[in-house]
Amino acid sequence: MSFTRRGFLSASAVLAATPIFGRAAAAATPREADIVVIGAGAAGIAAARRIVAANRKVVLLEASGQIGGRCSTDLTTFGVPFDRGARWLLNADSNPIGKLARSVGLDVVAAPVGQKIRVGRRNARPGETEQFLAGLVRANRAIDEASRGKLDTSCAAALPKDLGDWTNTTAFVLGASATGKDLADLSVMDKARAQDRGAPLACRQGLGTLVAKLADGLPLSLSTPASRIVWSNRDVAVETPAGRIATRAVILTVSTNVLTSGAIKFTPELPKRQLDAAAKLSLGSTDHIALMLAGNPLGLSRDEVIVEQSTSNRTGLLLANIGGSSLCTIDVAGSFGRELSAQGEPAMAAFAKEWIAKLFGSEAAAAVKSSVATRWNQVPGVLGGMSAAAPGSQGARKILGEPLGPLFVAGEATHETLWGTVDGAWESGERAAEAALRRIGALKDAEPEPSERQRPRRRKVRSASPED
Ligand SMILES: Cc1cc2nc3c(=O)[nH]c(=O)nc-3n(C[C@H](O)[C@H](O)[C@H](O)COP(=O)(O)OP(=O)(O)OC[C@H]3O[C@@H](n4cnc5c(N)ncnc54)[C@H](O)[C@@H]3O)c2cc1C
Repeated sequence: MSFTRRGFLSASAVLAATPIFGRAAAAATPREADIVVIGAGAAGIAAARRIVAANRKVVLLEASGQIGGRCSTDLTTFGVPFDRGARWLLNADSNPIGKLARSVGLDVVAAPVGQKIRVGRRNARPGETEQFLAGLVRANRAIDEASRGKLDTSCAAALPKDLGDWTNTTAFVLGASATGKDLADLSVMDKARAQDRGAPLACRQGLGTLVAKLADGLPLSLSTPASRIVWSNRDVAVETPAGRIATRAVILTVSTNVLTSGAIKFTPELPKRQLDAAAKLSLGSTDHIALMLAGNPLGLSRDEVIVEQSTSNRTGLLLANIGGSSLCTIDVAGSFGRELSAQGEPAMAAFAKEWIAKLFGSEAAAAVKSSVATRWNQVPGVLGGMSAAAPGSQGARKILGEPLGPLFVAGEATHETLWGTVDGAWESGERAAEAALRRIGALKDAEPEPSERQRPRRRKVRSASPED
């Protein structure tokens, strides 16, 4: 979600846990395939679709009982779609998933541009908002400038020192809220290389619903974790509790935290170069605390986004009245979000109510009817929010994506500019599928050209720009 001058200055916004179980659940897991794809998140689904389009036999293995990975819509808890993971399709103009939505009968609409800042119990005055936005622009420029230096320092080291009362809010918006990591843990080069992620789209039925629908008809085995990959430069086999699959190439889309956790064994071991790269691209922490309110006690518009002038990192980002309902979410992230989520859902709900009371009064907090909180760090197949490079580690993305004989690593962490996004994951899956298809001789070297989007551009991420 971008914080833009236009968004903050607009007076108002314009304009679920039933997992998508086993829609395409296969009968028995096959014993052989041209290519095995591990993980049915956005990257794995994109890869499997590409392989099917090339008329090659693919098996898509998913450890959990659910399609979509970090895209997961809960349709039942609140009676309105609640995206537990990703909710916005960023880069609206070029987002491949946005373009596919209509083909599966789902609607995508422009996401909110209404954004406000609270200073205690009141809205920020226009002059205060201007001051915050000007500081945000300066902070982005400073990160950009620092990224052109020789050393890949931390974003915190590059931050202007004179942001005054807006220091914590700026750090939250650029760091924890945008990437799941505090600025001290973020590489300036990684942050500066991230493409502008403005102008998001939302799917009315939930982004998880959309991503799962794009897996319809794929040869998918749910609840079938890859437990071991036996590989050499010539062949490869994937072991699962349902049996061993002989194949010619494997596309691995699990998160960096899963890769380094040792949950999947490799014979022989993965090279240290790749494992080190994955460790440098570890996942930050990002969670949604969802609150169903009685009516609209916050007095906010549909899909309005609120941050506060915070005095510490103990803060959140509010998305109010989602899709015109009374459902609100408070996002907690970074080191504070990690500590809070470790304490469990009751502690998360208590923080959310206390925060609402601080900014909107105790009557608003008393209007909370029910709550649910995600805890992505605890989800075994994911273990965190999204990958963000540690200072000095931007080069790790390229290394992680390097093919290893018949093994191809994909997933959001391998995208050099769209990391941490669903469209980045999708593109990485398509790219890995094409590389794997080339390896098995199913695609000629000349086709297809890498898309324009995959070439790095030096633009800012989820942030205000002077043109806005
Ligand atoms: C709270 C939150 C909010 C976010 N908001 C946004 C947003 O608004 N917009 C945006 O663009 N991005 C957002 N993101 C990031 C986005 O969700 C991810 O970048 C993207 O979904 C990652 O897709 P992936 O396919 O790379 O990985 P994943 O979605 O993690 O998929 C990997 C899959 O592999 C499976 N798996 C793990 N181990 C095994 C095994 N041994 N065998 C088989 N399968 C296995 C997992 O269960 C999982 O399904 C958000 C993330 C979070 C957590």
